[in-house]
Amino acid sequence: MERTVIGMDIGGTNLRGALVTPEGRILKRLRIASDADDGIDAVVDNIVKLAAELGGGEVPGIGIGIAGVIDSRAGVITQAPNIANVTNYPIRDNLVKKLGPGANVIVENDANCAALGEWWTGAGKDVSSLVMITLGTGVGGGIILGGRLWSGADGMGGEAGHMTIYPDGALCNCGNYGCLESYASATAVRRMVREALAEPGVETVLGDMIPGSDPDDIPEVVMSAALKGDAASIDIWERFGVALGIGMASLVNILNVEMIVLGGGVARAWDMFIEPARAELKKRGLRAPAERVVIERARLNGDEGMLGAAYLALGGR
Ligand SMILES: [Zn+2]
Repeated sequence: MERTVIGMDIGGTNLRGALVTPEGRILKRLRIASDADDGIDAVVDNIVKLAAELGGGEVPGIGIGIAGVIDSRAGVITQAPNIANVTNYPIRDNLVKKLGPGANVIVENDANCAALGEWWTGAGKDVSSLVMITLGTGVGGGIILGGRLWSGADGMGGEAGHMTIYPDGALCNCGNYGCLESYASATAVRRMVREALAEPGVETVLGDMIPGSDPDDIPEVVMSAALKGDAASIDIWERFGVALGIGMASLVNILNVEMIVLGGGVARAWDMFIEPARAELKKRGLRAPAERVVIERARLNGDEGMLGAAYLALGGR
């Protein structure tokens, strides 16, 4: 039988897993609640349960992507914002205890896994270098150089969301001001909406559309308002795109990668922000790297994290 592995994506709400072939084909997928609010022990029990269901009793290799600071070499979660009360938690050792001594467990940052997944079987499968930027609640990033993940000396490589774009800009979750995440994330869109609504004399349909909206839906609402021609909404996406373009120019100037892959939920607003982003990249990037780089949308529809984690479990780096 062909050697399959399990790739998992641990979110604050859901724990998703897939049984994956060495060619990157998904044979089976499952999703259960992660119970992350109940703490790491509950999450670990759920990982074991999901692995047993996916592996049909066998314990193949398991790769796990988790948001946060992950020390992949030691198998330790240094910090994870979505899981209650977890610091310096030895997740690999604890999983091996429960799964059996033969279990091969790899943990890695979720955005790094996403970058690996898109490089392995998605938008980047024909290139050897790329940066993936995930535009979601925050902004994540992962760097592939020469067909290998660059996770950095401390596992903190690829944090593209915390590049400073505007030195005196908006406060970021990380404590710095003016990070890319403060301008090109769902959180940033929500802030820009609040600012637009508070500004006197600004006429915008957002005033009618936003109240009562689920905060998670606000980027979609601003997208449909922009499509209707609402100037304030168009301006929000323009600022989003400009910030992203400034960040991309720095990335290509430093790394000269072949491709930048944009994924995450807010990438659905592609048509709203991509033109200002491309214009800014062209304006600020050095000519050769800015002209060479191909900007692509992620292709794996949310499976990229599980696939990248599976790739690690197969022994890839
Ligand atoms: Zn930041």
